[in-house]
Amino acid sequence: MGSEPEEKAGSLLERLRGEIFPMLEEAVSGSNVFFSNPHIIECWKALDCKSADCRLYGNGSGPLRCWQVADTYCNRKTRGSLAQKYNECRDCKVFKDSRPTIVEEIGEHFNNMIYLLNEQKQKNLGHKEQIENLRKELSSVLEELSSKKKEIREIMITDKLTTLFNRQHLITVLEDEIARCQRYGRPLAVMLIDIDEFKSFNDAYGHQAGDNMLSFVGSLIKENTRKFDRAFRYGGEEFVVVLPETDLTMAYIVAERIRRGFEIIPSYVIRKESVSDENISQTISIGITATFAYGTQDISIEELINQTENALHKAKDKGGNMCIRYE
Ligand code: GH3
Ligand code: MG
Ligand code: MG
Repeated sequence: MGSEPEEKAGSLLERLRGEIFPMLEEAVSGSNVFFSNPHIIECWKALDCKSADCRLYGNGSGPLRCWQVADTYCNRKTRGSLAQKYNECRDCKVFKDSRPTIVEEIGEHFNNMIYLLNEQKQKNLGHKEQIENLRKELSSVLEELSSKKKEIREIMITDKLTTLFNRQHLITVLEDEIARCQRYGRPLAVMLIDIDEFKSFNDAYGHQAGDNMLSFVGSLIKENTRKFDRAFRYGGEEFVVVLPETDLTMAYIVAERIRRGFEIIPSYVIRKESVSDENISQTISIGITATFAYGTQDISIEELINQTENALHKAKDKGGNMCIRYE
């Protein structure tokens, strides 16, 4: 038979084998383990504490690990969290009495370690959430910025009165279209539209009616062209339409459609009770040109526009209200 201390040491070793080692193995494998200690004591009883301000004083829910509870009031001093007060707690009677043998001592150290690790994990999760929120905020600001950029670009290339593109944008579009036409050998048509005797119209009906007439022309052009045709206000009462994939014959048909649309002018253009639809008489003239890459390899923007102007002059010379093709 062994001596009493030997028996004690043997039973402690057995407990280490039976309680602590499996717990460590489980912890290593990622399980949420916890050492169950029946020796936890109530701190306020063990210390005969009268700190009524302490959140644990008179606690009726049984013994708690007071060293893991933040803001306890020991020795008239508010203590911090476990991480802050742990050194002092190690020397405290409550902590010491809660681990009567080496098994509880290891078990409670283990519990504290797990507690601190979990706290750290929570903090990291909080940081992650903050970073994620910041990332979301940043991406919504960037999105807004890019939509504002789009809006500004729209404004920069749009004619306010007619909502067609403006003259500055025409150069960009023509450069692209001429390059495309030369690269792929596809036709490209351009037309120049001018309101006939517009000065007289302004004089007769006023500047506001003139403005209405200009926006009416804008909508008429849009209605009679395709999605990928682009229309521009070229100057005061002059408009340019760029028609990709369109030859001279097809462009002439489109131009005639626009010109004939002008024969019926809606009454909103002139807001005068006395003027009926039939009384509003206004016409437009259109000069048209078209190009193919082959044979006209190096056609320039100026040449194309000159050709439309040339055709338009011919229409005007013949009395207006007609579409003329450049030849
Ligand atoms: P033509 O048949 O030869 O083209 O004669 P026209 O009178 O149309 O041409 P002209 O160049 O002599 O006059 C153009 C007129 O267009 C003069 C100007 O008052 C008017 N105009 C230009 N821009 C605007 C505008 O934004 N609003 C209004 N209401 N009128 C404008
Ligand atoms: Mg003009
Ligand atoms: Mg004119």
